[in-house]
Amino acid sequence: MLIAIGSNRRHHRHGPPRGVVRAAVVALEGQGLAVIAVSRIHTTAPVGPGGRSFANAAVVVATSLSPRAVLNAIKAVERNFGRKPGQRWGDRVLDLDIIGAGSSVIAESGLVVPHPRMAERRFVLDPLVEIAPDWRHPLLHATVRQLRARAMRPMARNRVAKRAGP
Ligand code: ADP
Ligand code: MG
Repeated sequence: MLIAIGSNRRHHRHGPPRGVVRAAVVALEGQGLAVIAVSRIHTTAPVGPGGRSFANAAVVVATSLSPRAVLNAIKAVERNFGRKPGQRWGDRVLDLDIIGAGSSVIAESGLVVPHPRMAERRFVLDPLVEIAPDWRHPLLHATVRQLRARAMRPMARNRVAKRAGP
């Protein structure tokens, strides 16, 4: 199973977002999820004025738990890190998302797998390509490597367009 980790707030004990992300990996293991691969920690520039930059990472976990049970486990970790329910986007101490679970496709209330916005998010794809480049998205029929290449393309096109302009 693939899990994305993000933080853009200090934690009183774990320190800045990078420290929060590192501590979250340890906390996932504390929930009985065997972390078998960890990406580097990426720093993502804040969106909008006054925003704080995010630290993002991804992990591969081996588990016999169902995705629903893993969701409950990661929500427990978020709560333990002091994330208030309802704190969305913007500022958050810790965000844990299930990105994919093998070839499973789940569309239930409160649990959608693969994560519906993963394919557009560089802050998910950049860490993920380091640890699971060949995982295949069961609905988009593309690997992480291919999805990331696609997500990078519009920017590349802009640069070309600017150079070619008057
Ligand atoms: P987001 O991560 O999209 O910024 P939240 O972390 O606040 O937003 O998540 C809101 C809800 O999304 C969670 O309570 C959870 O039930 C639901 N959810 C649906 N699919 C997933 C998934 N694949 N991973 C994590 N949460 C999910
Ligand atoms: Mg989340």
